[in-house]
Amino acid sequence: MIELEDVWKIFGTDEQAVLAEARRSVPDDAVLKRLRAVIGVGGASLSVEKGELVCLMGLSGSGKSTLVRLINRLLEPSAGKVRIDGGDILSLGPRALRELRSRRIGMVFQSHALLAHLSVRDNVALPLEIRGVARTRREDRADELLVRVGLDGLGDRRVAALSGGMQQRVGLARALAADPDILLMDEPFSALDPLIRHDLQTQFMALSRDLGKTTVFVTHDVDEAFRIADRVVLMRAGRIVQTGTAADLVAQPADDYVRRFVQNARLPARAQDPIVKARAIA
Ligand code: ADP
Ligand code: MG
Repeated sequence: MIELEDVWKIFGTDEQAVLAEARRSVPDDAVLKRLRAVIGVGGASLSVEKGELVCLMGLSGSGKSTLVRLINRLLEPSAGKVRIDGGDILSLGPRALRELRSRRIGMVFQSHALLAHLSVRDNVALPLEIRGVARTRREDRADELLVRVGLDGLGDRRVAALSGGMQQRVGLARALAADPDILLMDEPFSALDPLIRHDLQTQFMALSRDLGKTTVFVTHDVDEAFRIADRVVLMRAGRIVQTGTAADLVAQPADDYVRRFVQNARLPARAQDPIVKARAIA
């Protein structure tokens, strides 16, 4: 469903010069400083299957947000290929790109960017309103989604009156409004208290299974990644260091960075987890 092939994102004035340098060998910090460049993502290749839930994990600054934004071309890659369902998205014109983003890819951020002056229902229905869907239809759809994310009956509330956890649920419902195939989620639960985060993870896993969404989920929290992901992609300094199941990363860490990252993680008994079981059956 999603394919990245040797994708690079250089931040700086002369992307191509830095790219040429970086392709020869991993440039050290002094070189990057001299070139006034940052390698946001360096040579990342990744395929995500339909219905799969992949977590991008890594320390702050390791390139997770950059990578996830390259998938819907919120960022223009310096090099490489990005395909959605086999189609090259780098060749899309502005209109086709807007279509792709509004119909096929839903996105949820840590800061949910909801409109505080609108009701919960209107926030969820907003992507449909922009697409010109009639009021009753979009409101029915919003109410249906509010039930799915556990906000049954709260459609008339002001967003500002909700807790952080509830606001993230509204953000998720809004991302689902257009029934996209793909969900991109950038640390959606990271700012929440542990208990609330745990509840949202549980509910999100069930939802993602029921709806069959292909999901790329960013988190710096190894326990979160191990709990929810089918596969984990560990990043460091813009590079993908290892891709595999939680069990793979624990059993065969590619290097010391991976080993240190995963050594204190709780490895959930995924095979026993009723949600994971149901996912596998579905
Ligand atoms: P993460 O999400 O893993 O914390 P990011 O993808 O946000 O990491 O950032 C990766 C690297 O790219 C960091 O060094 C960051 O400072 C840099 N970076 C991100 N966005 C920009 C930008 N717009 N301009 C310059 N540097 C950036
Ligand atoms: Mg980030």
